[in-house]
Amino acid sequence: MRGSLAPPIFQTSVWVYGELEDYDAVARGDRPGHLYGRNSNENVAMLETALAELEGAEAGVATSSGMAAILVAVRALAPKPAPIVAPLDLYGGTLALFRNELEPAGYALRLVDFDDQGALRKALVGAGLALSETITNPLVRVADLPVVTRLAAELGVPVLVDNTFATPILCRPLELGATTVVHSVSKYIGGHSDLIAGVVLGSAALTADARRRSVLLGTTLGPFEAWLAVRGLRTLALRMPRHSASALQLAESLREAPGVNGVHYPTLSGVAQEEVSRRLLPDGAGGMLAIQLDGGRPAVQRLMERLRMTTFAASLGGVETTISHPEVTSHRALSAAERSALGIGPGTVRVSVGLEEPEDIVEDFAQALSP
Ligand SMILES: *Cc1c(COP(=O)(O)O)cnc(C)c1O
Repeated sequence: MRGSLAPPIFQTSVWVYGELEDYDAVARGDRPGHLYGRNSNENVAMLETALAELEGAEAGVATSSGMAAILVAVRALAPKPAPIVAPLDLYGGTLALFRNELEPAGYALRLVDFDDQGALRKALVGAGLALSETITNPLVRVADLPVVTRLAAELGVPVLVDNTFATPILCRPLELGATTVVHSVSKYIGGHSDLIAGVVLGSAALTADARRRSVLLGTTLGPFEAWLAVRGLRTLALRMPRHSASALQLAESLREAPGVNGVHYPTLSGVAQEEVSRRLLPDGAGGMLAIQLDGGRPAVQRLMERLRMTTFAASLGGVETTISHPEVTSHRALSAAERSALGIGPGTVRVSVGLEEPEDIVEDFAQALSP
């Protein structure tokens, strides 16, 4: 690489060979190298190696999005259609993927409350896969992963964990018994709201299978996105503690705010999830929180208009603090009754707490919520 400190971008779709035997050796996997950009690329390989190391996995395969990572991971873990067990408050995109693509292909979805061990055990009987999320969207519930993985192991069911909200800095599900981990790299790992990518992390055999599927489906990642993700990754360990500390500070301040009748943050003192959250996320619970506003949608509109620094944007995990409204964004595919059963109402606001001065974030919400 001629001594460059930062990695160069290998913006090429194909590599040149002078010897048939060389090409053959790389194609067989006997020699490192790249052939064609849909199969692999040097920048993508750097991202995969770094994320596998961070997550404590044997190997990783990067994909064109978090959704693609979930799809190829599910197909690799449960190649034949089988029931999939997932939490009631599954990420909206994953729910839509299962309902629209996997259920018609024969995968029955068994949605269950992961806090109800009896119901979870029953749902796992005869299942092909369990999917869990470390911290759920938008009400930031923390599943007791050691319990989930133990129950699943007793019944021989592999567990796939979507670790997007926690990142490997705050939680490493493979160490808690998960079979495989996926991330939307678009969120905290990229960290700057400027790329879409995903990754599957697990054993060498599983990720090789996921890679073969991703290459066939054409869901592999391009070199520039991989390069951006590696750049973001360099500061992930610095960003996550700051996101976590600021989110906790904002959550505490919002408990007292006028017009707020509920604050959701995993390690807020006195909340139902506090014990499991502190046990699973000892270094911080991430930058996501949710609040319930009195006055429903008009109150959300008023908050949007009065916030000076914080903007409305339907993603998360970036440098800037943003708010989102699950009713019109992530959970718009659900009926009002389905949303209400999950605790999501017209006054629910999700906050992705950024890296600004924490006092500035607290002050922005305080002035916006003042009567
Ligand atoms: C955003 C997100 C996804 C989907 O990832 P994309 O990169 O948008 O495809 C999956 N799971 C969670 C928890 C997410 O937040």
